[in-house]
Amino acid sequence: MADETVLTPDLGFIKSLKGAGAETMKKCYQCATCSVICPLSPDDNPFPRKEMIMAQWGLKDDLANNPDIWLCHNCNDCSKYCPRGAGPGDVLSALRKIAIQENAFPKGLGKILGEPKMIWLALLIPAIIFMIAMKIKTGYFFQIPEGEVVFSKFFPISLVDTIFVPIALLVTISFVVSIGRFWKSLNKNPYKLMASGTILSGLIATIKEIVSHSKFDKCDANKDRVWAHRLVLFGFVGLFITTNWAVFNLYGLNWESPYPLNDPDAVAIFGSEAAAGLYRGVFKLTGNASAAILLIGSIMMFANRVKDKGFSSVSSSFDWTLAIMVFAVCVTGILSEVLRLANAASLAYPMYFAHLIVVFYIIAYLPFSKLAHMVYRTTAITYAKMANRDVV
Ligand code: SF4
Ligand code: SF4
Repeated sequence: MADETVLTPDLGFIKSLKGAGAETMKKCYQCATCSVICPLSPDDNPFPRKEMIMAQWGLKDDLANNPDIWLCHNCNDCSKYCPRGAGPGDVLSALRKIAIQENAFPKGLGKILGEPKMIWLALLIPAIIFMIAMKIKTGYFFQIPEGEVVFSKFFPISLVDTIFVPIALLVTISFVVSIGRFWKSLNKNPYKLMASGTILSGLIATIKEIVSHSKFDKCDANKDRVWAHRLVLFGFVGLFITTNWAVFNLYGLNWESPYPLNDPDAVAIFGSEAAAGLYRGVFKLTGNASAAILLIGSIMMFANRVKDKGFSSVSSSFDWTLAIMVFAVCVTGILSEVLRLANAASLAYPMYFAHLIVVFYIIAYLPFSKLAHMVYRTTAITYAKMANRDVV
């Protein structure tokens, strides 16, 4: 007699999956059209058909261990051709959201921040922290300084360091623990994809793929997502470089924003005002170009989300929050600079304050937000490459 396999559906998991955007999953009748259509699915054990039945049956552990949900790039070709409107692309997207919440450290925080209604609290927390810090440092909760607009007069650089350096460290620790958990679970996946290659070779191949967006280029239904995603990624990378460059300017060159050309220290370092001006110009161009690229990418992201694709595709609050925050960080950053140049103090300082809140939101909640998918996807694709699973 054949061995019996007892499946234990997790009803709570099914409920939370539906709440995360997979309401349509019960419509699936296992025709496998989605697995045939998917341009990224391997021939062996293709996705997303099998994930659809695992989701319907509430097999939480098997899905949590499954690297395939991260090989999907959410192009929604499968949703376009699904004869039942079961939205397999959205189901995989919901599964990724839950995987981020389940692996997040601290786990409870992941669940709380995943709630759309918590966004206001998540924004209020940095506002309160900043005001208390300003009160301690300057004696005022919020005061517009006199004279030329210089942001460090309003929110001293020492406060930026005191708040953001520990936050960056905590985020790093959170990611190390979360990704450690995730890697452990990948090693228990039901398809026994035991990794055989080296992590480094898998990681290098994955980074090349991410930079070129070669997988995205295979999409059909949502092809225009490629450029939005590419621009957002490049914009973030550019701003990351600019931020570290600014830290070098401040602590390496002892030259503080807004970088006056007649600063004797700068002239001593660069030899002349002209050379200092050239250096400053390249630095500013990098920062402004990165912000512009990110802004265009975020507008395209918005447009793609609202565009009628002619098939069932759900954008969850998780996706919308990312699009809104990326857009907000660009707009507040660009307006802060424009208002500073216009010396409109009463508008420039509040705008800069709003910018700091959004920057805090993006950095501090990174391990719990949609942006965390960058780290999870990179990890899962690396694992899949090591296991010869990601062969498309
Ligand atoms: S999700 Fe749609 S296309 Fe895929 S197996 Fe189910 S019914 Fe078929
Ligand atoms: S959304 Fe795209 S990549 Fe993901 S399973 Fe469907 S067709 Fe494949």
